[in-house]
Amino acid sequence: MRTVVRAAQLLTAQRAIEDPFVVVEDGAVTEIGQADAASLPNGEVLDFPGATILPALFDVHIHGSAGHDIMEATPQALATIGGFLARHGVGAYLATTVSADMDMTLRSLEGLALEMRRPQLGAQPVGIHLEGPFLSPHKRGAHPERLLQKPSVKLLNQMWQAAEGQVRLLTIAPELPGADETIARAVELGIRVSLGHSNATLAEARKGVQLGAASATHTFNAMRTFDHREPGLVGEVLTNDGLFAELICDGLHVEPTAVRIYWKMKGRERGILITDAMSAAGMPDGPYKLGELDVRVEGGVCLIEENTLAGSTLTLDTGLRNFAAFTGAALAEVMPLATRNPARMLGLDDKIGDIAAGRSADFVILSPERTVIQTFLRGAPQIAA
Ligand SMILES: [Zn+2]
Repeated sequence: MRTVVRAAQLLTAQRAIEDPFVVVEDGAVTEIGQADAASLPNGEVLDFPGATILPALFDVHIHGSAGHDIMEATPQALATIGGFLARHGVGAYLATTVSADMDMTLRSLEGLALEMRRPQLGAQPVGIHLEGPFLSPHKRGAHPERLLQKPSVKLLNQMWQAAEGQVRLLTIAPELPGADETIARAVELGIRVSLGHSNATLAEARKGVQLGAASATHTFNAMRTFDHREPGLVGEVLTNDGLFAELICDGLHVEPTAVRIYWKMKGRERGILITDAMSAAGMPDGPYKLGELDVRVEGGVCLIEENTLAGSTLTLDTGLRNFAAFTGAALAEVMPLATRNPARMLGLDDKIGDIAAGRSADFVILSPERTVIQTFLRGAPQIAA
């Protein structure tokens, strides 16, 4: 079947096209172009007047959604999460763990590896992000202290094997003993290293970068507080133009003025928007689990103990909309932060984060108010009419 999707605007990684069309055949894009009455290709036309077509979003840091935690690693959990994410414009994600008992972690990784070999409905898990257990006890956020581990090549190898080599991203605090060898091993395995949950000084952060770190985990959150005499990891993240940097743009984790600082420093080449969402995303307030942890959700805010944030209920379409609103930047400018940049960071940009002939037909239709009208994944609409 041949479908011609039309809208008011198309944003690809390289250009914006007014009055565009996208031809989809057998799940792939076969042609994109500008429509005029004479040249519209044949096929069933799906018209979205006033709307913008952009590549499907990519979330490299997400723990769960719609009542399920990634670490359940069951077909039902992944199908529910995949369907929910697809309705929010997400086409791909990294299944993200939290620090947990090592037996439970290994079991989850085995389950995720099994599921990732099967075709999934909705958004696709394209790899695993290990957030923990190699985190600083001083900046552990919601990760329970007793579940943290000193960085260890042996443990990393065990997790890699359990995950059948599907680990693509590792969050680690570079100042911990054993971090150097563990970062070096991760790089050797082709895992991207992200610095975070860290009390690193500027010097310690730079050492992590020299060892091969490619990114930073939720910039500002769970990092040593910026000080003008000891800028710490935040100082390195904001000033190193080679480093990618994640941001949670829910307006709670990072105040909008800090979001603008981040935008000025990381820009459209190095910023990566994430959700850090947990199972309560898309669900009512109440008690939830994050890994083994009890979390209470009040007014959409995920909390443990007094007032520690424990993940978010953010969706990436809202994160992108917030980011454009907080920075005042055009959608075309900020769109790469939720599409192409995470794919570039992971070396997956030949498959993810753009719309072009020959690629899988994975794209989102946004209304003028920047809400998701429809998501096409592998050419199939994900939202029932
Ligand atoms: Zn975290």
